[in-house]
Amino acid sequence: MAFSKLGLSPAVLEGVRAAGYITPTPIQLRGIPLVLAGRDIIGSAQTGTGKTAAFALPILQRLSARPQPRTPRRPRALILTPTRELAAQIGDNIALYGRHLPLRHAVIFGGVGEQPQIRALAAGVEIIVATPGRLLDLMEQGHALLDRVEIFVLDEGDRMLDMGFAPDVKRILAKLPSPRQSLLFSATMPEEIRQLANRFLHNPVHIEVSPVASTVDSVEQRVCHVQRSDKHRLLVHTLARHAEGLVLVFSRTKHGANRLALNLERDGIPATAIHGNKSQGARQRALEDFRSGRTRVLVATDIAARGIDVKGISLVVNFDIPEEPEAYVHRIGRTARMGASGFALSFCDPSERASFRDIQRLIRQTIQVHADHPFAANAPSAVQMEKAPGLPSQPARSSGSGFRFWRSNRRPRRSGYGSYVPLPGRR
Ligand code: AMP
Repeated sequence: MAFSKLGLSPAVLEGVRAAGYITPTPIQLRGIPLVLAGRDIIGSAQTGTGKTAAFALPILQRLSARPQPRTPRRPRALILTPTRELAAQIGDNIALYGRHLPLRHAVIFGGVGEQPQIRALAAGVEIIVATPGRLLDLMEQGHALLDRVEIFVLDEGDRMLDMGFAPDVKRILAKLPSPRQSLLFSATMPEEIRQLANRFLHNPVHIEVSPVASTVDSVEQRVCHVQRSDKHRLLVHTLARHAEGLVLVFSRTKHGANRLALNLERDGIPATAIHGNKSQGARQRALEDFRSGRTRVLVATDIAARGIDVKGISLVVNFDIPEEPEAYVHRIGRTARMGASGFALSFCDPSERASFRDIQRLIRQTIQVHADHPFAANAPSAVQMEKAPGLPSQPARSSGSGFRFWRSNRRPRRSGYGSYVPLPGRR
């Protein structure tokens, strides 16, 4: 099925061509015709499924099909998203898809000066892509008015609630007019999200393209039982053996992320940390360096990593096991994007075993233990781990293919661990 069959106009199809997309992804196939028809939708879909185009393309088309004089401060479409990175990415996509359309957009987020955003709103834009906090600030000052919003998108709904934005979202919802079209996207559908959905969606169609388990299925996962004090050495060991592609390492805390990146640099492995304490500029630079391969390893906290859309992440390392099991799904979803294969390796110390069991319950899989490394800690409850109640006793994936980067049985050199092999063309 081609994009041309979905009911998109020639100008929007030009945008699709500009983006280089040939075949619609499942959420685009199902979502685009529904949004074009004016339906409300709930999409269970993670970043990486092509959901941005699934809502952005039909929104561009609907707005351009009924041109209206541009009104200062009053957008016709509002896309709310939890992080600055995601807002910037959606803004970039809209610019790309809409380059043949006479529509303007503004990206509104905190951490940068308000003035350029205020000026853009005053000049008039059809579409706002915003994070909740800054949007509310600008609304309160009268720079943004939502009374003409025709289409509203709540993106990454579950993460929005996790980040404590529920009150802000509700305040924004209260300012939206009706009737309007509303779209909700969320990787997971906890009860809170369903309740929120009931508040603002009208007779929605539910589209589920990547149930948690199937997303997780496309990633080859292993767990290493290791003492906390050995985790860094295990990471260096892993990086030395996993010579291809970008590596995203998750740390639970900002401080831990900084320390990890510094220690890696000290071991001769170019790495940067990305987290909420860094300025917007520093975060964007870190992402750019990572995307281009200048730094092969990015150390991130959960919130900073949300929505990172970087192709070529071949390995996700959970240096710390997330306390909240759903974060695991978000984390490993950063690899294996758009059908590529990916690996996820979790370093689990004895204090993290309970959290790890919760993750296995959530994804309904038993994650295989990888013990063929020099820092393997005995997992006294290994049998219990493997057969946690409610879990299949066999791993969901066959272990046949094995981890490519574990093929080598070489012991690490005790000094330096520094067999970091730069990728061709990369520093
Ligand atoms: P998203 O889930 O919207 O964050 O999209 C994930 C990535 O897939 C982005 O880099 C998009 O540019 C890309 N993408 C979206 N739709 C398609 C498509 N139909 N074909 C190829 N790539 C796509």
